[in-house]
Amino acid sequence: MPEIQRRNAVTVKIGNVRVGSDAPVVVQSMTNTDTADVESTVQQIAALARAGSEMVRVTVNNDEAAKAIPYIIDGIAKKGWNTPIIGDFHYNGHLLLSKYPDTAQALAKYRINPGNVSIGRKDDDNFRTMVEVAVKHQKPVRIGVNWGSLDQALLTKMMDENSKSSNPLPARDVMMEAMVVSALDNAAAAERYGLRRHQIVLSAKVSGVRDLIDVYTELANRCDYALHLGLTEAGMGMKGVVASTAGLAPLLLSGIGDTIRVSLTPTPGGDRSEEVRCGQQILQSLGIRSFMPQVTSCPGCGRTTSTYFQELAERIQGYLVEQMPEWKKQYAGVEELKLAVMGCIVNGPGESKHANIGISLPGTFEEPKAPVYVDGKLFTTLRGDRIVEEFQEILDNYVEKRYGKVLVEA
Ligand code: SF4
Repeated sequence: MPEIQRRNAVTVKIGNVRVGSDAPVVVQSMTNTDTADVESTVQQIAALARAGSEMVRVTVNNDEAAKAIPYIIDGIAKKGWNTPIIGDFHYNGHLLLSKYPDTAQALAKYRINPGNVSIGRKDDDNFRTMVEVAVKHQKPVRIGVNWGSLDQALLTKMMDENSKSSNPLPARDVMMEAMVVSALDNAAAAERYGLRRHQIVLSAKVSGVRDLIDVYTELANRCDYALHLGLTEAGMGMKGVVASTAGLAPLLLSGIGDTIRVSLTPTPGGDRSEEVRCGQQILQSLGIRSFMPQVTSCPGCGRTTSTYFQELAERIQGYLVEQMPEWKKQYAGVEELKLAVMGCIVNGPGESKHANIGISLPGTFEEPKAPVYVDGKLFTTLRGDRIVEEFQEILDNYVEKRYGKVLVEA
């Protein structure tokens, strides 16, 4: 597969994670617990980290949340995680960061939304205060513009200027330009107040796919700051996954984007870690990074009238998700493994041969047997009602044999 030429961005160190330039594109996520609830927040951060989130953002919206941060970071360390924790600040960030120096010190990065730090003010003193705290503690900052909270004074000024122009642009284009200008102007201000270029990450999130592509393409052309990508308010379920993928894929393929988040709305009580797996899957589908063995499975058709092969595909997928946190510690490279679970003999043997391990299940009216291929060769043929268990055993043995550490005898 041809290499993607990454945009040459300044590298930023966030805790123990490097972002930008030749560093891998980092997957991050955000909690939805009450930050003041230390126990729940620690549990959720640990779950996100276990799913593979390489940085986790938490909202810091009031005194209780700010006071909780050092305890949260202590709590996740006790669970064995050193995932960088990013504080998300709006409106009162200048007050909280000044009032709670332990919190300012414990966080790995601050996210500042320039659209809501100086509401109703003519100066940018609140923004400046936050940046000065970051400089004091030597913390990087993400200047995160969001079109839902875009600096209204800037937007109004740009709209007015546009309306007076002899060749006015559509309002949508002015809005996109205002996002870019807001991010760049605030980054320039942050540098004036003492931050260095390698301490700044920019984002300009919108909820429309085409808008996202346009605004980030423009931002990438006009600066070399590291960029955090994400479609804001992506939505629920399939809509959120597809829209995020549609927005992020063209940018990532053009080498734009140093860190990503997929902002899925979870179902009530749903698994927050889905957004991590979705981000990983986008990067893996594009051939940018590998996180998880991939299962190729056919969609099924009239030749598979039972749900047997769907159940096998689902069980294998679930098994991989379950095993991966341990496997990736023990078996270097296991994330490159390819499996195929196919519904009948039409494409089954062919697709199975392209995978490391493939199984071709019997279609309706086919002989009840399932040939298994390992590294392109017929390995065995499974029969009876233990096909799933036996296939799983073949998988475990393959992983151990291929990716297990070679023990050197003394
Ligand atoms: S492999 Fe067989 S069951 Fe699967 S879609 Fe193709 S023809 Fe249908």
